[in-house]
Amino acid sequence: MYTALSIVDGFPGKSASHGAFGWSSLWLIEGEGRRILVDTGPPAYVPLIHRGLEQHGLSASEITDVMLTHTHWDHIGNLTMFPTATPWIGQAELTWATLQPPGTQFLSDLHVRHLDSDPRVQRIDGESEILPGIFSMETPGHTPGHLAYVVTGADGPSLFAGDAVKNLHELTTARADSTMDADESRRSIERVRSALKSSGGMLIPGHDVPLVASGDQFERAGDVLARFSYFDTEGEHDSVISIPSTRSSRRH
Ligand SMILES: [Zn+2]
Repeated sequence: MYTALSIVDGFPGKSASHGAFGWSSLWLIEGEGRRILVDTGPPAYVPLIHRGLEQHGLSASEITDVMLTHTHWDHIGNLTMFPTATPWIGQAELTWATLQPPGTQFLSDLHVRHLDSDPRVQRIDGESEILPGIFSMETPGHTPGHLAYVVTGADGPSLFAGDAVKNLHELTTARADSTMDADESRRSIERVRSALKSSGGMLIPGHDVPLVASGDQFERAGDVLARFSYFDTEGEHDSVISIPSTRSSRRH
């Protein structure tokens, strides 16, 4: 049995002018003698990760495992912050990533090379119970070898969907933004969706707060909060973006 705790909540926003925000979900799983991070966030998260771990009485050196959903920069960007942790990633994802040319969109070349040359990396071959009570789930589309993780918990499973399901909108519509294969993404979302409905647990998307099934709908289990400001007006003209959890979407 594990307990899942948010270190940094994902944010379901998209820049219309400056590429991806990359504000991904970063969660801690504690149990069975392990302290596991699911993904590591973008480089800007470093102080947030330190602060989030400190709130649970932990430091980066106490993380035992890092389970990666895929090789995009906003999910593997802080891998080297945890040099004593065992990294886990799908074999198919890593193989695919190593074959891509430099400059491939969203891929973090240096981290991919680092992973590929690290003998401690646990390469997950398809679907299995990778640790007691933790199962890998193949969810291709966003990337070819993307993995989700299903984690057993006292209040039902936590389903870490990564970017197979980035936000409430994707879970609701089964239409993925930023995917390498829209049909595969739709199948992966539908599979995750039925796993969520049948399990009664919670889904942690790649870029949103936890989602739960509620009748025929899905909804956020908490509010989405973010603050924006300019350097020269910091503290004076902050804009707060707040999406209340009650704003759920009906399935199309
Ligand atoms: Zn991604």
